[in-house]
Amino acid sequence: MKTQGYEIDLENVVKTINKKNYKRIILQLPEGLKTSFVDLIKYIENQTDAEVMVFADPCFGACDLIDSKLENLEADYIIQIGHTPIPALKNFSIPTVFVNASFYVNVDVLIKKVTPLIKGKNVGILSTAQHVDNLDTISDKLVEKQYETFIGKGDSRTAFKGQILGCNFSSAKKIADKVDVFLFVGSGTFHPLGLMLSTKKPVIAYDPYTNELKTKELDDLKDMVLKQRYGAIARSKDAKNYGILIGLKTGQQRIKLSEDLKNLIESKNKKAYMIVVDYFSPIFLEGFSHIDCFVSTACPRIAIDDYLQYKIPIITPVELKILLGKISWDMYEFDEII
Ligand code: SF4
Repeated sequence: MKTQGYEIDLENVVKTINKKNYKRIILQLPEGLKTSFVDLIKYIENQTDAEVMVFADPCFGACDLIDSKLENLEADYIIQIGHTPIPALKNFSIPTVFVNASFYVNVDVLIKKVTPLIKGKNVGILSTAQHVDNLDTISDKLVEKQYETFIGKGDSRTAFKGQILGCNFSSAKKIADKVDVFLFVGSGTFHPLGLMLSTKKPVIAYDPYTNELKTKELDDLKDMVLKQRYGAIARSKDAKNYGILIGLKTGQQRIKLSEDLKNLIESKNKKAYMIVVDYFSPIFLEGFSHIDCFVSTACPRIAIDDYLQYKIPIITPVELKILLGKISWDMYEFDEII
């Protein structure tokens, strides 16, 4: 079915519901697709005997599995729309399917806008889940124009070649030494920023929703974010009490890393407290006024995107290592879940 310009393939989902005789379905949606919930429910209920309930909490990625939360609801099946699976996450207590929401890219417009900016011959092509279907076509058109193209296959956190997540740039790193420039297709600035910082290569970012390029804006943003990160580390230099934030969402849990960070902090005669968080909000953390610095081991976006909203500085595991002198600022890297 089509909604808000997205193609969402629910045919196989309907077939599975009918074949397995599922009766209670839970629909999990990203914020942008919540306004389509009526159409999505109608589509499923009109073709099955199932009753569909919608899960209202925010869902930012396939890392956010809700199977263990829903056991009392006697749900038969969870449909998470708008994300591709994270292959490393398995064994759901309630069967869960991920249905991508694909957005059409006008490849001819993209090629016309992008090619004047490409310096060099070798181009790595990447996107978020919504546009991965278009990467081969983009590659073919660039090859027609005599470029050599590369689409890398990432690790077990990504489902498709050329796909990146805000927490994983492995598909880019695999090909970084072969390319002169990366072409990123997608909206927002976080992914291309992460791409720049994790590969140290130039990035041309093309937004298929607006048909706009973001290259200059990205360079400015990179400088601003690095300044902010440096500032967060500097603000924490006298910290004595640390709060290590452990994300409760299945695909964000890094318990071993949290324990290693606790040991590192305590080896410097400082105190570390482990704080488990399901829903991140600066307000919920304000009560922990004893803490001088939070270290987030959950989604890497939390420390970067929401930095200004936190009164107590919040840093990433890599930044903690810089703060405690384990590595130097020159070795700064974007935090990734691998
Ligand atoms: S951890 Fe963050 S960036 Fe990674 S999939 Fe989850 S929400 Fe997206």
